[in-house]
Amino acid sequence: MVASPSHADDGFESKIEPLYPAGNVTVVCKNGPPDTWRTWLVSSHILSIVSPKFAALFRFMVREDHQGLISPSSCLSLNGEDPLLLGLLFEVLHFRQPQKDVQMNLKKIAQLAVLCDKYSCCSALRPWSSHWLGHAPAPETPEEYGYALLASHLYENEQYLATVSAHAVRNLRLESVSAWSDDEILRYLPQAVYNDLKMKMTAAMDRLRCDVDYVVDFHQRFENVYLLGGLMCLICGRTHPDSARECHACRNQDLYAKICTPAYRIGEYLIALKAAALWPPSEVSRTCSVMEFAARVGSVKSSLKHRCGAGKLCPLELGVELLNVKVQRTVASIMGCVLNDPS
Ligand SMILES: [Zn+2]
Ligand SMILES: [Zn+2]
Repeated sequence: MVASPSHADDGFESKIEPLYPAGNVTVVCKNGPPDTWRTWLVSSHILSIVSPKFAALFRFMVREDHQGLISPSSCLSLNGEDPLLLGLLFEVLHFRQPQKDVQMNLKKIAQLAVLCDKYSCCSALRPWSSHWLGHAPAPETPEEYGYALLASHLYENEQYLATVSAHAVRNLRLESVSAWSDDEILRYLPQAVYNDLKMKMTAAMDRLRCDVDYVVDFHQRFENVYLLGGLMCLICGRTHPDSARECHACRNQDLYAKICTPAYRIGEYLIALKAAALWPPSEVSRTCSVMEFAARVGSVKSSLKHRCGAGKLCPLELGVELLNVKVQRTVASIMGCVLNDPS
Protein backbone atom coordinates (compact mmCIF):
# COMPACT_ATOMS: atom_id res chain seq x y z
CA MET A 1 0.00 0.00 0.00
CA VAL A 2 2.94 2.33 0.74
CA ALA A 3 4.72 3.43 -2.41
CA SER A 4 7.30 5.89 -3.56
CA PRO A 5 5.90 9.12 -5.07
CA SER A 6 4.24 7.66 -8.09
CA HIS A 7 1.49 9.99 -9.23
CA ALA A 8 3.25 10.41 -12.54
CA ASP A 9 3.35 6.64 -13.19
CA ASP A 10 2.00 4.97 -16.29
CA GLY A 11 2.30 8.10 -18.39
CA PHE A 12 -0.59 9.81 -16.64
CA GLU A 13 -0.13 12.54 -14.08
CA SER A 14 -3.06 13.57 -11.91
CA LYS A 15 -2.81 17.04 -10.46
CA ILE A 16 -2.06 17.07 -6.73
CA GLU A 17 -4.99 18.45 -4.74
CA PRO A 18 -3.66 20.16 -1.60
CA LEU A 19 -6.25 19.52 1.09
CA TYR A 20 -4.12 20.89 3.90
CA PRO A 21 -1.44 23.60 3.61
CA ALA A 22 0.98 21.71 5.86
CA GLY A 23 0.14 18.34 4.35
CA ASN A 24 2.85 15.75 4.81
CA VAL A 25 1.62 12.73 2.84
CA THR A 26 0.62 12.28 -0.76
CA VAL A 27 -2.21 9.81 -1.31
CA VAL A 28 -2.67 8.37 -4.76
CA CYS A 29 -5.75 6.55 -6.01
CA LYS A 30 -5.53 4.99 -9.46
CA ASN A 31 -8.72 3.09 -10.05
CA GLY A 32 -10.84 3.14 -13.21
CA PRO A 33 -10.06 5.28 -16.28
CA PRO A 34 -6.84 7.37 -15.91
CA ASP A 35 -8.74 10.67 -16.17
CA THR A 36 -10.52 9.78 -12.91
CA TRP A 37 -7.29 9.06 -10.97
CA ARG A 38 -6.60 11.47 -8.16
CA THR A 39 -3.75 12.57 -5.93
CA TRP A 40 -4.13 14.49 -2.68
CA LEU A 41 -1.74 16.16 -0.27
CA VAL A 42 -3.16 15.29 3.14
CA SER A 43 -2.27 15.69 6.79
CA SER A 44 -1.31 12.41 8.45
CA HIS A 45 -1.96 14.10 11.81
CA ILE A 46 -5.58 14.93 11.02
CA LEU A 47 -6.29 11.55 9.47
CA SER A 48 -4.63 9.74 12.38
CA ILE A 49 -6.78 11.60 14.92
CA VAL A 50 -10.08 10.70 13.24
CA SER A 51 -9.18 7.20 12.07
CA PRO A 52 -7.27 4.45 13.92
CA LYS A 53 -6.92 2.69 10.56
CA PHE A 54 -5.12 5.66 8.97
CA ALA A 55 -3.05 6.04 12.16
CA ALA A 56 -1.89 2.44 11.75
CA LEU A 57 -1.08 2.99 8.06
CA PHE A 58 1.00 6.09 8.82
CA ARG A 59 2.85 4.33 11.65
CA PHE A 60 3.76 1.68 9.07
CA MET A 61 5.03 4.43 6.72
CA VAL A 62 7.28 5.83 9.44
CA ARG A 63 8.85 2.42 9.89
CA GLU A 64 9.25 2.04 6.11
CA ASP A 65 11.06 5.38 5.80
CA HIS A 66 13.63 4.41 8.49
CA GLN A 67 13.78 8.09 9.43
CA GLY A 68 11.16 8.27 12.15
CA LEU A 69 9.29 10.94 10.17
CA ILE A 70 6.77 11.16 7.39
CA SER A 71 7.86 13.66 4.76
CA PRO A 72 5.76 15.26 1.98
CA SER A 73 7.53 12.93 -0.39
CA SER A 74 5.90 9.96 1.37
CA CYS A 75 3.21 8.44 -0.76
CA LEU A 76 0.34 6.22 0.21
CA SER A 77 -1.24 4.28 -2.61
CA LEU A 78 -4.94 3.39 -2.17
CA ASN A 79 -5.62 2.08 -5.65
CA GLY A 80 -8.38 -0.28 -4.58
CA GLU A 81 -10.75 2.56 -3.69
CA ASP A 82 -13.17 4.69 -5.69
CA PRO A 83 -11.27 7.98 -6.40
CA LEU A 84 -14.44 10.07 -6.19
CA LEU A 85 -15.54 8.64 -2.81
CA LEU A 86 -12.04 8.72 -1.37
CA GLY A 87 -11.73 12.37 -2.43
CA LEU A 88 -15.04 13.14 -0.76
CA LEU A 89 -13.88 11.42 2.43
CA PHE A 90 -10.58 13.34 2.50
CA GLU A 91 -12.31 16.66 1.82
CA VAL A 92 -14.69 16.20 4.75
CA LEU A 93 -11.93 14.98 7.06
CA HIS A 94 -9.89 18.09 6.19
CA PHE A 95 -12.86 20.35 7.01
CA ARG A 96 -13.59 21.20 3.40
CA GLN A 97 -16.95 21.52 1.72
CA PRO A 98 -17.56 18.34 -0.33
CA GLN A 99 -17.72 18.83 -4.08
CA LYS A 100 -21.16 20.07 -5.07
CA ASP A 101 -21.26 18.03 -8.26
CA VAL A 102 -21.35 14.73 -6.35
CA GLN A 103 -24.96 13.57 -6.22
CA MET A 104 -25.38 12.00 -2.78
CA ASN A 105 -28.14 9.54 -3.54
CA LEU A 106 -28.71 6.57 -1.23
CA LYS A 107 -26.33 4.33 -3.17
CA LYS A 108 -23.49 6.87 -2.95
CA ILE A 109 -24.19 7.48 0.75
CA ALA A 110 -24.04 3.72 1.40
CA GLN A 111 -20.85 3.30 -0.67
CA LEU A 112 -19.22 6.11 1.30
CA ALA A 113 -20.40 4.54 4.56
CA VAL A 114 -18.72 1.25 3.60
CA LEU A 115 -15.51 3.17 2.81
CA CYS A 116 -15.72 5.06 6.13
CA ASP A 117 -16.29 1.79 7.98
CA LYS A 118 -13.23 0.28 6.29
CA TYR A 119 -11.09 3.21 7.47
CA SER A 120 -12.79 3.46 10.91
CA CYS A 121 -13.98 7.03 10.49
CA CYS A 122 -17.80 6.75 10.41
CA SER A 123 -18.15 8.90 13.52
CA ALA A 124 -16.24 11.77 11.87
CA LEU A 125 -18.67 11.71 8.92
CA ARG A 126 -21.79 11.40 11.07
CA PRO A 127 -22.91 15.07 10.85
CA TRP A 128 -22.52 15.02 7.06
CA SER A 129 -24.29 11.65 6.81
CA SER A 130 -27.31 13.07 8.65
CA HIS A 131 -27.41 15.92 6.16
CA TRP A 132 -27.10 13.60 3.15
CA LEU A 133 -29.66 11.08 4.43
CA GLY A 134 -32.06 13.89 5.30
CA HIS A 135 -31.84 15.33 1.78
CA ALA A 136 -31.71 12.11 -0.26
CA PRO A 137 -34.87 11.04 -2.09
CA ALA A 138 -36.91 8.52 -0.10
CA PRO A 139 -36.12 4.90 -1.01
CA GLU A 140 -38.37 3.34 -3.63
CA THR A 141 -36.66 0.15 -4.80
CA PRO A 142 -35.71 -2.75 -2.49
CA GLU A 143 -32.02 -1.96 -3.12
CA GLU A 144 -32.51 1.70 -2.12
CA TYR A 145 -34.11 0.56 1.14
CA GLY A 146 -31.06 -1.66 1.68
CA TYR A 147 -28.64 1.23 1.00
CA ALA A 148 -30.55 3.45 3.47
CA LEU A 149 -30.44 0.73 6.12
CA LEU A 150 -26.75 0.06 5.57
CA ALA A 151 -25.78 3.74 5.72
CA SER A 152 -27.89 4.57 8.77
CA HIS A 153 -26.54 1.51 10.58
CA LEU A 154 -22.86 2.24 9.82
CA TYR A 155 -23.26 5.95 10.65
CA GLU A 156 -25.30 5.01 13.75
CA ASN A 157 -28.15 7.31 12.77
CA GLU A 158 -30.70 5.77 15.13
CA GLN A 159 -33.68 7.90 14.17
CA TYR A 160 -33.24 7.41 10.42
CA LEU A 161 -32.63 3.68 10.90
CA ALA A 162 -35.83 3.29 12.93
CA THR A 163 -37.89 5.24 10.39
CA VAL A 164 -36.53 3.70 7.20
CA SER A 165 -36.59 0.15 8.57
CA ALA A 166 -40.24 0.53 9.64
CA HIS A 167 -41.04 1.70 6.07
CA ALA A 168 -39.05 -1.26 4.73
CA VAL A 169 -41.04 -3.72 6.86
CA ARG A 170 -44.26 -2.24 5.47
CA ASN A 171 -43.27 -1.88 1.82
CA LEU A 172 -40.86 -4.69 0.93
CA ARG A 173 -41.60 -8.25 -0.03
CA LEU A 174 -39.63 -10.96 1.72
CA GLU A 175 -38.47 -12.37 -1.62
CA SER A 176 -36.93 -9.01 -2.66
CA VAL A 177 -34.93 -8.74 0.57
CA SER A 178 -33.50 -12.22 0.01
CA ALA A 179 -31.78 -10.94 -3.17
CA TRP A 180 -29.68 -8.41 -1.26
CA SER A 181 -26.84 -10.87 -0.70
CA ASP A 182 -26.08 -10.67 -4.45
CA ASP A 183 -25.62 -6.86 -4.36
CA GLU A 184 -21.99 -5.69 -4.23
CA ILE A 185 -22.80 -2.99 -1.66
CA LEU A 186 -25.55 -4.67 0.34
CA ARG A 187 -23.37 -7.67 1.12
CA TYR A 188 -21.80 -5.33 3.70
CA LEU A 189 -25.11 -5.07 5.57
CA PRO A 190 -24.47 -6.82 8.91
CA GLN A 191 -26.23 -10.17 9.17
CA ALA A 192 -27.79 -9.12 12.49
CA VAL A 193 -29.52 -6.11 10.84
CA TYR A 194 -30.66 -8.25 7.92
CA ASN A 195 -32.02 -10.94 10.29
CA ASP A 196 -33.73 -8.30 12.43
CA LEU A 197 -35.49 -6.81 9.40
CA LYS A 198 -36.59 -10.21 8.06
CA MET A 199 -37.86 -11.21 11.49
CA LYS A 200 -39.92 -8.02 11.74
CA MET A 201 -41.33 -8.56 8.22
CA THR A 202 -42.23 -12.17 9.03
CA ALA A 203 -43.81 -11.16 12.36
CA ALA A 204 -45.93 -8.48 10.65
CA MET A 205 -47.15 -11.00 8.06
CA ASP A 206 -47.93 -13.52 10.81
CA ARG A 207 -50.06 -10.92 12.55
CA LEU A 208 -51.92 -10.15 9.30
CA ARG A 209 -52.65 -13.86 8.86
CA CYS A 210 -53.91 -13.97 12.45
CA ASP A 211 -56.18 -10.99 11.69
CA VAL A 212 -57.72 -12.95 8.77
CA ASP A 213 -58.19 -16.05 10.96
CA TYR A 214 -59.64 -13.98 13.79
CA VAL A 215 -62.55 -12.93 11.58
CA VAL A 216 -63.35 -16.59 10.77
CA ASP A 217 -63.64 -17.18 14.54
CA PHE A 218 -65.76 -14.03 14.77
CA HIS A 219 -68.22 -15.51 12.24
CA GLN A 220 -68.38 -18.77 14.15
CA ARG A 221 -69.35 -16.95 17.34
CA PHE A 222 -72.42 -15.29 15.76
CA GLU A 223 -75.15 -17.90 15.45
CA ASN A 224 -77.91 -15.54 14.29
CA VAL A 225 -79.60 -16.43 11.00
CA TYR A 226 -81.30 -14.01 8.58
CA LEU A 227 -83.38 -14.37 5.45
CA LEU A 228 -81.40 -13.80 2.29
CA GLY A 229 -84.33 -13.55 -0.10
CA GLY A 230 -85.18 -16.06 -2.83
CA LEU A 231 -86.03 -19.74 -2.80
CA MET A 232 -83.51 -22.50 -3.38
CA CYS A 233 -83.87 -25.83 -5.15
CA LEU A 234 -81.83 -28.36 -3.20
CA ILE A 235 -81.58 -30.64 -6.25
CA CYS A 236 -79.87 -28.27 -8.69
CA GLY A 237 -78.85 -25.42 -6.39
CA ARG A 238 -80.68 -22.76 -8.44
CA THR A 239 -82.18 -19.75 -6.67
CA HIS A 240 -85.72 -18.72 -7.66
CA PRO A 241 -87.88 -15.66 -6.82
CA ASP A 242 -89.87 -15.74 -3.55
CA SER A 243 -93.07 -16.21 -5.59
CA ALA A 244 -91.83 -19.35 -7.41
CA ARG A 245 -93.70 -22.59 -6.71
CA GLU A 246 -91.49 -24.97 -8.62
CA CYS A 247 -88.01 -25.41 -10.05
CA HIS A 248 -88.98 -26.03 -13.66
CA ALA A 249 -85.63 -27.60 -14.51
CA CYS A 250 -86.02 -30.32 -11.86
CA ARG A 251 -89.79 -30.28 -11.54
CA ASN A 252 -89.11 -29.92 -7.80
CA GLN A 253 -91.71 -28.15 -5.70
CA ASP A 254 -89.78 -28.39 -2.42
CA LEU A 255 -88.10 -25.00 -2.50
CA TYR A 256 -86.50 -23.58 0.66
CA ALA A 257 -85.91 -19.99 1.76
CA LYS A 258 -82.24 -19.00 1.47
CA ILE A 259 -80.77 -18.18 4.84
CA CYS A 260 -77.66 -16.27 5.97
CA THR A 261 -76.14 -18.68 8.51
CA PRO A 262 -72.67 -18.73 10.19
CA ALA A 263 -71.49 -21.40 7.73
CA TYR A 264 -72.86 -19.42 4.78
CA ARG A 265 -71.12 -16.26 6.00
CA ILE A 266 -67.79 -18.03 6.42
CA GLY A 267 -68.10 -19.38 2.87
CA GLU A 268 -68.86 -15.87 1.55
CA TYR A 269 -65.95 -14.43 3.57
CA LEU A 270 -63.51 -16.94 2.08
CA ILE A 271 -64.84 -16.30 -1.44
CA ALA A 272 -64.38 -12.54 -0.91
CA LEU A 273 -60.81 -13.10 0.36
CA LYS A 274 -60.00 -15.20 -2.70
CA ALA A 275 -61.48 -12.55 -5.01
CA ALA A 276 -59.18 -9.98 -3.33
CA ALA A 277 -56.12 -12.27 -3.86
CA LEU A 278 -55.85 -12.87 -0.10
CA TRP A 279 -56.33 -16.61 0.01
CA PRO A 280 -54.60 -18.75 1.09
CA PRO A 281 -52.88 -16.19 3.36
CA SER A 282 -49.77 -18.34 3.90
CA GLU A 283 -48.96 -18.18 0.17
CA VAL A 284 -49.97 -14.54 -0.22
CA SER A 285 -47.68 -13.40 2.59
CA ARG A 286 -44.62 -14.71 0.75
CA THR A 287 -45.31 -12.76 -2.41
CA CYS A 288 -46.68 -9.40 -1.28
CA SER A 289 -45.70 -6.65 1.11
CA VAL A 290 -47.58 -5.64 4.27
CA MET A 291 -48.98 -2.57 2.49
CA GLU A 292 -50.06 -4.61 -0.53
CA PHE A 293 -51.78 -7.04 1.84
CA ALA A 294 -53.52 -4.15 3.62
CA ALA A 295 -54.65 -2.63 0.30
CA ARG A 296 -56.18 -5.96 -0.73
CA VAL A 297 -58.01 -6.16 2.61
CA GLY A 298 -59.35 -2.68 1.91
CA SER A 299 -60.86 -3.92 -1.35
CA VAL A 300 -62.73 -6.87 0.23
CA LYS A 301 -65.71 -4.81 1.35
CA SER A 302 -66.37 -3.43 -2.13
CA SER A 303 -66.35 -6.94 -3.59
CA LEU A 304 -69.05 -8.20 -1.19
CA LYS A 305 -72.38 -8.76 -2.95
CA HIS A 306 -74.12 -10.09 0.17
CA ARG A 307 -77.55 -8.73 1.12
CA CYS A 308 -79.69 -10.24 3.86
CA GLY A 309 -82.39 -9.26 6.33
CA ALA A 310 -79.80 -7.94 8.80
CA GLY A 311 -78.77 -5.20 6.36
CA LYS A 312 -75.65 -3.36 7.50
CA LEU A 313 -75.71 -5.33 10.76
CA CYS A 314 -75.10 -8.67 9.06
CA PRO A 315 -72.08 -10.29 10.81
CA LEU A 316 -70.48 -10.78 7.38
CA GLU A 317 -70.24 -7.00 6.84
CA LEU A 318 -69.27 -6.38 10.46
CA GLY A 319 -66.54 -9.02 10.16
CA VAL A 320 -65.03 -7.39 7.08
CA GLU A 321 -65.03 -4.00 8.84
CA LEU A 322 -63.37 -5.66 11.84
CA LEU A 323 -60.73 -7.14 9.55
CA ASN A 324 -59.96 -3.66 8.16
CA VAL A 325 -59.61 -2.19 11.65
CA LYS A 326 -57.35 -5.01 12.85
CA VAL A 327 -55.11 -4.83 9.77
CA GLN A 328 -54.76 -1.03 10.09
CA ARG A 329 -53.76 -1.53 13.74
CA THR A 330 -51.20 -4.15 12.74
CA VAL A 331 -49.69 -1.80 10.13
CA ALA A 332 -49.57 1.09 12.63
CA SER A 333 -47.90 -1.07 15.30
CA ILE A 334 -44.88 -1.96 13.13
CA MET A 335 -41.68 -0.79 14.78
CA GLY A 336 -38.35 -0.23 13.05
CA CYS A 337 -34.90 -1.62 13.88
CA VAL A 338 -32.90 -0.38 16.83
CA LEU A 339 -29.15 0.19 16.77
CA ASN A 340 -27.06 -2.62 18.25
CA ASP A 341 -30.12 -4.29 19.65
CA PRO A 342 -31.56 -6.55 17.00
CA SER A 343 -34.27 -8.59 18.67
ZN1 LIG B 1 -83.74 -27.47 -9.41
ZN1 LIG C 1 -76.09 -11.75 6.13
